[in-house]
Parts: sequence; C-alpha cells; structure tokens
Amino acid sequence: MKTIRDYIRTIPDFPHEGIMFRDVTTLFSDARGFRMAIDQLLHPYAGTPIDKVVGLEARGFILGGAIAHQLSVGFVPIRKKGKLPGKTIEQAYQLEYGEAVMELHDDALQPGDKVLLVDDLLATGGTAEAGIRLVERLGAQVMGCAFIIDLPALGGAARLEKLGMQVHSLCA
Ligand code: 5GP
Repeated sequence: MKTIRDYIRTIPDFPHEGIMFRDVTTLFSDARGFRMAIDQLLHPYAGTPIDKVVGLEARGFILGGAIAHQLSVGFVPIRKKGKLPGKTIEQAYQLEYGEAVMELHDDALQPGDKVLLVDDLLATGGTAEAGIRLVERLGAQVMGCAFIIDLPALGGAARLEKLGMQVHSLCA
C-alpha cells in the first residue's frame, strides 16, 4: 500500500540550482493520497477544540480548506505582503538571503479563538513562526501546527517546539 511519502516527488534544482524541491502537487492530485493526507493531518486533533484553521500561503490554503471543511470550522489565510485586501497586521521573518513579510487580516481571528495552523512543508520554521506570531498577536491560541513534510535537518520542528508548539508532520 502506498504511503504519503510515495505520492510526493522531488524535483532537483527548483527554484534554484542545488535545491531538492518536494513537490506535493502529485499528492494533491491523487484522490486517495489527498484524502489520506487530510485524514492523517487531522488524526491527532480528534477531541481538540478548534475554532479556525489558518493556512500559510500557498499550499497551506489547499490543505487548510479541506481540513476546515472536515471540521466544519472557518478557514483563515496568512498571505505574503500585499495580497490581502483588508486591514492587516504584518510579521517579518528572515530568509536565507533577506527578509519576507506575512500578513493576516486584523479582524480574521477573535481573542481566545483556538487555531490549527497548516502548511505543506516545515523547513527552517521561519514561515510557521511568523504565522504563529500573527495568530497570537490577535489574542488567538495555536493548538497545533500540522505539516505534510518536516525536514528535521533544518530545525523547524525544534524551533516551533521551543515556542511551546505541538508539531505534527506526516513524513520527512
Ligand atoms: P521555512 O520557512 O520553514 O524555511 O520554509 C517553509 C515554507 O517554504 C513553506 O511555506 C513551504 O511551502 C515552502 N517550501 C520550502 N521548501 C519547500 C519544498 O521543497 N517543497 C515545498 N512544497 N515547499 C517548500
């Protein structure tokens, strides 16, 4: 039987030479693979109260939408700077070269909301940490951070756990 890992392909030298890019579009496009991924991402949160699913641009939207539907809760996007139309709060984070900024609508979450944060892949954890900070700045609480892939050599899970987060991933 195929595992989640079997549905993901690695594309060498994308987007830059020397990068081995994990391509999850082949997981998303397979009916069984996609359902298995959503079910497995949700599994640890059975019984955990969740008010909103927050997805990180862009593949976190695909996962987050399906998870929110399954939980019958709302979905909230965190986007790269300049994409959200309403009033936002922003959070900068370090990239290998330079800086990036993520944004969240300032009225997207209410204080006390319990949030599940979702993305496809955890590498250094910089993107997810920016997401956590945005959620917490609105007074909401991150109940868990769920990813398809964790690249443990890049330290993302350890970084998020240091912030007190529960990190769940399906494969390395
Ligand atoms: P981090 O901020 O943890 O270093 O990088 C994670 C972010 O970069 C995620 O939003 C993820 O979608 C994206 N990312 C980085 N490398 C890859 C990759 O190899 N495959 C995919 N699908 N996303 C990646």
